[in-house]
Amino acid sequence: MIEIGKIAVEHREGRSRLVAAVRVPQDAIRVWQQRAARLDAHMKDRYRSEYLDAESRFRLWFEVEEAYADALCPERSDAFLTAILYFAMVSGEDIRCEAPVTDKLLYQIKEYLIPSLCDESKGYRRISVEAEPAPEAEKVAAFVGTGISCGVDSFSTVLLHTKEELPEAFRLTHLTLFNTGAMNFAGYAKDKPLAQWREETKKEFEERIALGKKVAQELDMKFLAVDTNIPDLYQGCFSFSHTFRNLSAVLATQKTWGSYYYASAGEGNLNRVGLTQDSSFYDPLNLMALSLRSLYFYSGGAPYTRLQKTEMIADDPVVQKYLNVCSFHTVNCGRCEKCVRTLAAVDVLGKREAFRTAFPDMSYFENNKWKIMANIAEAREDDFFSYETKQYMERHGIGLSAKSKQYHLLLPFRKVRRWFRKARKENG
Ligand SMILES: [Zn+2]
Repeated sequence: MIEIGKIAVEHREGRSRLVAAVRVPQDAIRVWQQRAARLDAHMKDRYRSEYLDAESRFRLWFEVEEAYADALCPERSDAFLTAILYFAMVSGEDIRCEAPVTDKLLYQIKEYLIPSLCDESKGYRRISVEAEPAPEAEKVAAFVGTGISCGVDSFSTVLLHTKEELPEAFRLTHLTLFNTGAMNFAGYAKDKPLAQWREETKKEFEERIALGKKVAQELDMKFLAVDTNIPDLYQGCFSFSHTFRNLSAVLATQKTWGSYYYASAGEGNLNRVGLTQDSSFYDPLNLMALSLRSLYFYSGGAPYTRLQKTEMIADDPVVQKYLNVCSFHTVNCGRCEKCVRTLAAVDVLGKREAFRTAFPDMSYFENNKWKIMANIAEAREDDFFSYETKQYMERHGIGLSAKSKQYHLLLPFRKVRRWFRKARKENG
């Protein structure tokens, strides 16, 4: 049984924290380690439990600038339950909350989320949640928010919800940034203390806050950042649990929100539901199940694919300056998979030159364009992003260069070579 204690608000040095003591049994940690390592190769043999005390407890917290202290909700366990839920479902551990949970949320989690996700035939026990249901806590505002990671999904959601013709209650007032595990995910290591990892992550968080504030200012919006130590509990598996973790930061500050747009991933409506799936694959279920009566989550940009979103934002001067899709840096490296994918998309759209500020180094793309484009031309349907770009090229009569074509013609030979290499490797 995972126990979530009473919730308090603490103020220190201009910052306010929502805190609860959480007890996580050693058994749950052990099962989590085993199962998480199967889902996320980065987690193999590297979990560190120094965040737990001798009684297997830790203080889970969400922190905001003191100016936003009114937004915090100590009367309900909503944020803590949501933050821990994925961990508990994977480790098969029940949850007990000392403070009440908003009735609608409790109902939806117990009757929809848990039965949909905990598939007993796959070894995931259907966990129980013990908590007192209570009406929704009183609000201080009904702001409208979305996250500003500065990527394509994020910016398209922002632009879609700043349109003049939107009813005012749905127009964005706030951009947010949550430190729930997306940052510095490559920096974990077994031999690195969690405190050191947190220091490194904090640096990236602060860089991204500075960027987010600039974007908010240019778009005439407010900015709210939430820091939290949820990553200490998980230490990986972010893609499987991001919806739970990020929405828990919204629920921690629920007194200030009316609507919140959680950017969709632009991969079409996959609707693959389960604990071993990327949690954005079943966002329609998650967002419904984690909504309150007066705080509704929408899947921002859900009707559009990634390339359509890229096209939608490509002419915006703020996007051209601040777009940041890189997996590793707050300045686009131009070399990683996400950078290359995005450069290929803006190139195909004829907008690459407009992104010289956001991508200061395009040399890798320029030198390898012949190969990158040939690979896109060879993409199959299950490679969603490349396949979409390929179809766009076909529709718009965008052909390959002579060098790309040559390379493409050699595909059968490359396949044979790949097969030989694989066979040689397997035979030692
Ligand atoms: Zn990159």
